[in-house]
Amino acid sequence: MEKFDSVPEIFASCVFNEDVMRERLPKDVYTSLMNTIATGKEIDAGIADVVAGAMKDWAIDHGATHFTHWFQPLTGVTAEKHDAFLSPVGGGKVIMEFSGKELIRGEPDASSFPSGGLRATFEARGYTAWDPASYAFIKDGSLYIPTAFCSYGGEALDTKTPLLRSMDAISKAGLRIIRLFGDDTAKRVVSTVGAEQEYFLIDEDDYKARRDLYYCGRTLFGAPPVKGQELEDHYFGALPTRVSAFMKELDVELWRLGISAKTKHNEAAPSQHELAPIFCTTNIAVDQNLLTMECMRKLAPKFGMACLLAEKPFEGINGSGKHNNWSLSTDTGKNLLKPGKNPGENKQFLLFLAAVIRAVDEYQDLLRISAATASNDCRLGGHEAPPAIISIFLGEELEALVHSLIDGSHYAKRDTKYMSLGTPSVPTIRKDNTDRNRTSPFAFTGNKFEFRMVGSGQNIALANIVLNTAVAESLTIFADILEETVDFDRTLDKILSDTLRCHSRILFSGNSYSPEWEAEAEARGLSNFKSSPDAYAHFTDEKNIELFGKFGVMSETEMRSRREIFFGSYRKIKNIEARTMLEMTLRDIIPAVSKYIGELSTAVNATRSAVKSASLSCECDIIEKLSDALAKAYDAYGALERAERSAISKPSDEEAAFFYKNTVIPKMDNLRRVVDEMETLTSREAWPMPTYGDIIFKI
Ligand code: ADP
Ligand code: MG
Repeated sequence: MEKFDSVPEIFASCVFNEDVMRERLPKDVYTSLMNTIATGKEIDAGIADVVAGAMKDWAIDHGATHFTHWFQPLTGVTAEKHDAFLSPVGGGKVIMEFSGKELIRGEPDASSFPSGGLRATFEARGYTAWDPASYAFIKDGSLYIPTAFCSYGGEALDTKTPLLRSMDAISKAGLRIIRLFGDDTAKRVVSTVGAEQEYFLIDEDDYKARRDLYYCGRTLFGAPPVKGQELEDHYFGALPTRVSAFMKELDVELWRLGISAKTKHNEAAPSQHELAPIFCTTNIAVDQNLLTMECMRKLAPKFGMACLLAEKPFEGINGSGKHNNWSLSTDTGKNLLKPGKNPGENKQFLLFLAAVIRAVDEYQDLLRISAATASNDCRLGGHEAPPAIISIFLGEELEALVHSLIDGSHYAKRDTKYMSLGTPSVPTIRKDNTDRNRTSPFAFTGNKFEFRMVGSGQNIALANIVLNTAVAESLTIFADILEETVDFDRTLDKILSDTLRCHSRILFSGNSYSPEWEAEAEARGLSNFKSSPDAYAHFTDEKNIELFGKFGVMSETEMRSRREIFFGSYRKIKNIEARTMLEMTLRDIIPAVSKYIGELSTAVNATRSAVKSASLSCECDIIEKLSDALAKAYDAYGALERAERSAISKPSDEEAAFFYKNTVIPKMDNLRRVVDEMETLTSREAWPMPTYGDIIFKI
């Protein structure tokens, strides 16, 4: 790791941020660009060449030779194509050049990115367009320019475009509300996000020794180890040396990129860890989370490790999520979801709170979809992850307040409580007004909401697109009424009590992991989409098309294309998983077990000829059990293979996705059960891959 003197010195040293712009741009250009960034208004075309020139000079000063438009196609990962700044000047010489045109617009061939039917085969053109609000940065000798990506016809082919549109929607709606409460200075309302990232680190040799890990990012076989996480000794435990070295270097790399990596610790499962940055504006938070994941993946091998970002790399062991902390604030830094000392009197806060509660209740399905991926299905609904049912936890104090608003009863403000630990040597500490609820998928945590359903490997854009747009709708409805009323206070109180009464079914403070909640949620009419395909099917429900259309976030065409892509990705992932299982079974597991049976049988015969009276009951018993299991495994293999063949022949991705869910996955589960049983009967030496016990306790 490179030496450095202080964190402030290296922080954002690879970022073309406000400080650099102030230093390197003419004053009027700087002011104009800052205005675009702060207000989201269109960029003044005249300044692009100047900005590009300054960016290039700065990038070259920092060792860059190339630039790339960096974008987020609907593949779930980022994309980049690098161009050198080179430009020929005759006489076989070159100069380094970068124009405003190249900064503002790129033209990658879009034909190999998912378009969900948006792109006819003859229309391969796609465009990338600069997002000036997310700073350019240097990585691996290239200047990275965050961009939005669209088709030749102008439809969004990425996650950033609708995200930026949703940020405009919430800003507009939010401004109308805060103006009503007398804020005339704020220019923009922004949604802020802090994404806590969970991940696993395992030994790279183990990763390479398992095809399921390197083809699919998660294990498809594996018997439970004798020791799991029951001792609860890993959570917040001391960091192993190798992990600590990795985290230190990761921090420095992220800091250079202007990512404020702040908190790091061991998570609940062995080999599981977490990193949390300081929150920032949504589009930057999304970009930075994608960069963080990439840096994690790329850095791990330097320490002889592999970083697993899949939601459930090991069955029976805690999975990884991404806690999407979300709030609203003004560009002047006022958090609009901060209850303050006396939330009962803070009507503006209550109105924003009601807006979120309404949004989450009305668009449960969209929020569920935003966390629906083939691999997150393996996590959601487990005993350590939120169920597939969306509900909101407000905490004791706010819940009592909400109920008083609904039924008009008196609400007594709670006093701040303090507690002493029974020894004068430890200072008295302030107690929060409410405990946490770790089982809730959507919990209020003081001045923000924490959406805990999103998967660790996912792009968090869609979750935030849904939140921003749905809350923008609530706020718009409220503003429409409040701007017209003659009796502001009475109308406001009525909006609060009506909204909260109408949507109180979404509030739940009990244990979301319990089976009783599932029954109660059903009685309350809450949706419960257990699998991704079940959820995807609702993406284009009339009310959802209307919501996104109304705010210009996604057109119906863009939504239909996304729906196609959801089903298509699900199908492809499940297809790869099924084929990986088949390959591992036939080419690794069956040969290994059969060879082991052969070895045992040879030993039995040899022993018998040496000692006529030898019992051999142990060896014979194992041989018998393994032979039985082998036959069952081969049957399960055949059943999976037939199902997989039918899946491939399904004409549409939607049909195939449901077929995988209903028919192929149960066959995969059957095969896995038998193989896992064989693992426990086969000698360690003979088993063809590292086991759970080998992997998760190694580092
Ligand atoms: P915990 O895991 O205990 O909830 P952490 O400190 O690990 O808490 O993570 C909390 C995350 O929430 C951090 O990324 C933090 O920056 C973020 N956060 C705090 N305030 C806000 C806010 N107003 N808007 C969005 N995110 C926030
Ligand atoms: Mg958290």
